[in-house]
Amino acid sequence: MDTLFLLRQLHADIAARVQVIRGDRADWPCGRGCGSCCRHLAGMPRLTAVEWQPLRDALAGWSPARRLEIRRKTAELARRESMAPALICPLLEEATDTCPVYLQRPVACRTHGFYVQRDKGLYCRDIESRVAAGGWADVVWGNQEAIDHRLSRLGESRTLSDWLADWDDSGVRGAENKKGEEHRKNDDA
Ligand code: SF4
Repeated sequence: MDTLFLLRQLHADIAARVQVIRGDRADWPCGRGCGSCCRHLAGMPRLTAVEWQPLRDALAGWSPARRLEIRRKTAELARRESMAPALICPLLEEATDTCPVYLQRPVACRTHGFYVQRDKGLYCRDIESRVAAGGWADVVWGNQEAIDHRLSRLGESRTLSDWLADWDDSGVRGAENKKGEEHRKNDDA
């Protein structure tokens, strides 16, 4: 079956679960603008090729300076990864704690804070401590194992940093160089 179709189904099911959990809980911590998990990653989110493609397309629209910054952060991360206790996602906009690819974010980021894997417990520390203190006993968490099983049908997954490290935006850079040349020619004319 078409992996893009399967991914869209997965996104829709996760969004429905998120909506049910969030419901009228106005103080739910997980959402756009909370970069807590993006700052304290135990490991880089993993994503399949069909998830990487829209994310890569979003990055292609960024300015060369911004893309260069992502490359710098990814290279730095590769140097520190083995020794860092917690990792910061190279895509996170640290000044505002926002994910700049929120609409294209991987499934792993969408489920964080709403799904539980029995052997690993709740993923979000803030939510975990609230639950430990007796809060949100009525929440029906999503099943992360079921999500992982569905994800495995989309193909092999790689870490976000691996995708970024191999990211070839030369096509974009080529188009930009061409555009620059055309501008220069027009200016000379
Ligand atoms: S892709 Fe976005 S949501 Fe996922 S860890 Fe990075 S900044 Fe956070």
